[in-house]
Amino acid sequence: MAELEGVHETIILGSGPAGLTAAIYAARSRCCPLLIHGRQPGGQLTTTTIIENYPGFANGVEGTFLMAEMEKQAARFGTRFVEGEVTRVELAERPYRVWVDETSYACETLIIATGASPKMLGLPNEWSLYGRGVSVCATCDGFFYKERDVVVVGGGDTAVEEASFLARFARKVTVVHRRNSLRATPTLQERAKLNKRIEFRWETMVTGILEDERGVTGVRLRHIPSGMEGEIPCDGLFVAIGHTPNTALFQGKLEMDVEGYIFTRNHTETNIPGVFAAGDVQDPHFRQAITAAASGCMAAMQAERYLESLFEKKKGYT
Ligand code: NAP
Repeated sequence: MAELEGVHETIILGSGPAGLTAAIYAARSRCCPLLIHGRQPGGQLTTTTIIENYPGFANGVEGTFLMAEMEKQAARFGTRFVEGEVTRVELAERPYRVWVDETSYACETLIIATGASPKMLGLPNEWSLYGRGVSVCATCDGFFYKERDVVVVGGGDTAVEEASFLARFARKVTVVHRRNSLRATPTLQERAKLNKRIEFRWETMVTGILEDERGVTGVRLRHIPSGMEGEIPCDGLFVAIGHTPNTALFQGKLEMDVEGYIFTRNHTETNIPGVFAAGDVQDPHFRQAITAAASGCMAAMQAERYLESLFEKKKGYT
C-alpha cells in the first residue's frame, strides 16, 4: 500500500457545492486541500436543470456550468484533485486515513461532503431497465423522450420540476403520487398544474414496470384507496422520490441519524475532532445548492481553526 505525500492538512471528500466551496475556502486559507471525487464530479447539480434560485444569477444558471466554475475557482487557489472511489476510511486516530483503492492518503482534518443519492422504488426490474427507460434525471435523459409518453413518480420539488422539464419534450407526462396533494413548493406546483401536457394520478403507486426487449413499455399502477390495479403505456419512468445520504463508508465510525445522515453540532463538527461534514450528507432538511455551499464554507473555516489549534499546541502556546 502506498501512502502519498505525507500528511495533508485537509482532505475533502466530494465535489458538489459543499465540497468545492470548502475547497475554495480551505485553499485561500493556505490549508492546501486535496479533494477526492468519484465518477460524477460536480455531484447532483450536474443532473439538474437550470438553477433559478442560486443567488447572483438573475436569469438562472445551468448546474453543470455552475459546478465547472466552482471547480476552476477551487483549482485557481491551489486545490488538488484526485479522482477515485474512496473504499475505506480510518478515523480512530489522527492522522485520519482515506483509501482510494490501494492508495492511502493521510490528513489532519477531513471534510465529508459526499452528498446523497436518489432513492429507487425497489421494483425487481428497475435496475435492469436503468438507462433503457428508467431514469432519475430528466435533464440527462429528457431529450430522448421527444413526443413520447413518460411517467414521473413522486410529489416533491424534484418530481414536479422534472415533470415540467419533461413536458418540454414529451407528448404526455403523468405524475404518479401516493398522496392526494403535492409537497412541492407552490410556484412549481402551479406551473405544473397549468401545463396541459402534465396529468396527475393521485393516491396511486407504481407497482410494476412493463418491458419488452427494447426497454420500458408501461407501468402497473395501484390506486391506494380502492386497491384498483391498472396499466398505462409509457416509454420512460422517472423516479423522483428523494435521496439517501452517501454515508456507508462512515457507518459505525461517525454518529448518524436513523436515515444515515451524519450528525453535526456547532455547525459542521462531527463527533470526531477534526472531522467535519457539509452539505446533503448532514442535511435532510434544506438540501439546496446554496445551503450546501454555505455549510462547505463553514466546514473549511472550522477545519482551519482546528488546524490552527493543533499548531498552537505543538508550539506550546496552549
Ligand atoms: P422529497 O421532498 O423528500 O420528496 C419525495 C417525494 O417522493 C415525496 O412526495 C414522497 O411522498 C415521495 N416518495 C418517497 N418515497 C416514495 C416511494 N417509495 N414511493 C412513492 N413515492 C415516494 O424529495 P425531493 O423532491 O427530491 O426534494 C428533496 C429536497 O430538495 C427538498 O428539500 C426540496 O425542496 C429540494 N429541491 C429543491 C428544488 C428547487 O428549489 N428548485 C428542486 C429539487 C429539490 P410523500 O409526500 O408521501 O412523502
